[in-house]
Amino acid sequence: MIDLRSDTVTKPTPAMLDAMMHAKVGDDVYGEDETVNNLQQMAADMFGMEAGLFCPSGTMTNQIAIKVHTQPGDELICADNSHVYKYEGGGIAFNSGVQAKTLKGDRGRITASQIVEVINDGNVHFPVTKLVTLENTANRGGGSFYDLDEIKRIRKMCTENNLILHLDGARIFNAIVETNYTAKDMGQIFDSISVCLSKGLGAPVGSVVLGKKEFINKAKRVRKVFGGGMRQAGFIAAAGIYALQNNITRLKDDHQRAKQVADVLKQKSFVKEMMPVDTNIIIFKAVNVETANQFIDRMKSENILVGKISSDECRMVFHLDVTDEMVNRLIEKL
Ligand SMILES: *Cc1c(COP(=O)(O)O)cnc(C)c1O
Repeated sequence: MIDLRSDTVTKPTPAMLDAMMHAKVGDDVYGEDETVNNLQQMAADMFGMEAGLFCPSGTMTNQIAIKVHTQPGDELICADNSHVYKYEGGGIAFNSGVQAKTLKGDRGRITASQIVEVINDGNVHFPVTKLVTLENTANRGGGSFYDLDEIKRIRKMCTENNLILHLDGARIFNAIVETNYTAKDMGQIFDSISVCLSKGLGAPVGSVVLGKKEFINKAKRVRKVFGGGMRQAGFIAAAGIYALQNNITRLKDDHQRAKQVADVLKQKSFVKEMMPVDTNIIIFKAVNVETANQFIDRMKSENILVGKISSDECRMVFHLDVTDEMVNRLIEKL
């Protein structure tokens, strides 16, 4: 089976499982799980941030950040196809009583000049604009990534306007391996960062949220309220440590494979248009809805699973469990 529906489908390798089996654990709600503590410190250090908090999912780390940064009735600004707005079950409203002002981005990326246009002034009629969230890489943008200069412009604009800046960095390392910026650059710019360990990095479960100590103390309280306080979580945190130590630079291989497959797909008559492939995600529109369905069914009959993200759009995501042999078979079947 070649499963390209998402980069969340990876299974732990024997070496990762071994690290998990030998983890030293304790009760993390008491702060006594040394493996969780190590993971949190390690991730914070990588980004040059003060502290981190391990959580069950990236949805939870994003939602915790939004909750800590806002008050009910506030407004946040994000891209209209961003994960926080589109794929977290209305959590912005449900968890934080906050509303979203959405902007049409360029493949999921928004700009400082767009954001500054929609900041509300202090008039009592308007919700208080409090927070900006960026997504890098942008999932619905086909794995597009930001330029460092644009992120810096957004930071400057946020500081000038008293806005907090959060990064949904579910796939931040996919951006980092393709660009001239580092994790530490990101840590300097953002007030909080959410990083998924369970995407391309290949851990079975978990995300970390990073920020200042004061932010993380508040985040810990919110995590408990959301039901995300875990006990001997070191067994899964050990997979996260293993992932950060071993699975970052190899993300480039996923990008290379995605481009290789995209070059073949591009020439097919059933493909109407395809987003540029910047990292590990291919998104293309089929010529019509039936063709999209047929393509997915035909691939499935060849034991190749392709994702469907709207009526006529297909998605293929490359990850740790996709090998060169699989890519060759995929190209042959295409
Ligand atoms: C996967 C993902 C998340 C978090 O998803 P979980 O499944 O809750 O871990 C957040 N943002 C983006 C852009 C994602 O792709």
